[in-house]
Amino acid sequence: MNIGWIGLGNMGIPMAAQLINAGYKVSVYNRSKDKGIELNKLGSTIAETPKSLLENVDIVIIMVSDDEAIKQIFESENGLLSAEASGKIIINMSTVSPAVSKAMDQKSQQKGNAYLDAPVSGSVKQAETGQLVIMVGGDETVFEKAKPVLDTLGKLTLRVGETGAGNQAKLAINSLLALYAQGLAETVLFANNNGIKTDDLLNLINNAAIGNIFTKIKGDAILADHYKPAFALKHIVKDLRLARDEGISSPLAETALKTFESAEAAFGEEDLIAVIKSL
Ligand code: NAP
Repeated sequence: MNIGWIGLGNMGIPMAAQLINAGYKVSVYNRSKDKGIELNKLGSTIAETPKSLLENVDIVIIMVSDDEAIKQIFESENGLLSAEASGKIIINMSTVSPAVSKAMDQKSQQKGNAYLDAPVSGSVKQAETGQLVIMVGGDETVFEKAKPVLDTLGKLTLRVGETGAGNQAKLAINSLLALYAQGLAETVLFANNNGIKTDDLLNLINNAAIGNIFTKIKGDAILADHYKPAFALKHIVKDLRLARDEGISSPLAETALKTFESAEAAFGEEDLIAVIKSL
């Protein structure tokens, strides 16, 4: 099976590499061409446009930023919808709105292609090791065809409903992610202000029942004062806005959106745990 990959950002590069290492023939497309070089060295070919990519593969997987990027990938002059191709499966793993998934699903079907939304939970580390958690919306038969490929990228691939349901599940999960990040940052600052050292506090948290992979990884980042983005802060702002648009209106969600929005101008390109600097 030939796979086309669109989007070589922090997540796209390790995910596409995972497929190449599993033995799939992979061809990649990215808006900024230089990012394909790394994967080219691993054995992938490079496509010039989404159109030519779809015409030459069986499945296209997309991992780009947001709704705007998805519209570009599908609807631009040499986008996926301009391809002379049918019977293909297009899997959108980006975190985007359910509405854009439903729209692109309909347009893909009109061209004779199938669409799944399959966003992921987990970050760069999980992407590098095939340990992502993948939540899928779309037709069950198409899902069963695509599942072996998705299983290469994740430790759990779960269909949660029709088109857009994967996006809904992801927005729910990322609402919790934002609360974890803000909560951890506030807790560290509160303890520091009362004379407790960060490494002592993190040692306690990570050995206690409230410790988890997130507190370990982001705690290490705080300790090292290292905010290179695994998951850029600007993306959690995007996700909290999408969650708000889908109807979340709890006190915590509203506070988190305000917190991350006010951090975005200074720290949007850094990791989401850079919110500690803003707080
Ligand atoms: P990233 O590092 O910011 O990369 C974004 C990718 O989207 C790049 O390939 C970029 O191309 C492309 N892109 C952006 N705007 C575009 C446009 N208008 N047209 C075409 N391509 C465009 O993002 P990421 O961290 O890999 O995240 C990708 C998606 O996964 C996002 O939806 C994010 O919310 C989600 N996600 C991320 C994580 C994480 O930990 N990082 C975890 C789970 C889910 P250029 O190279 O040309 O800029």
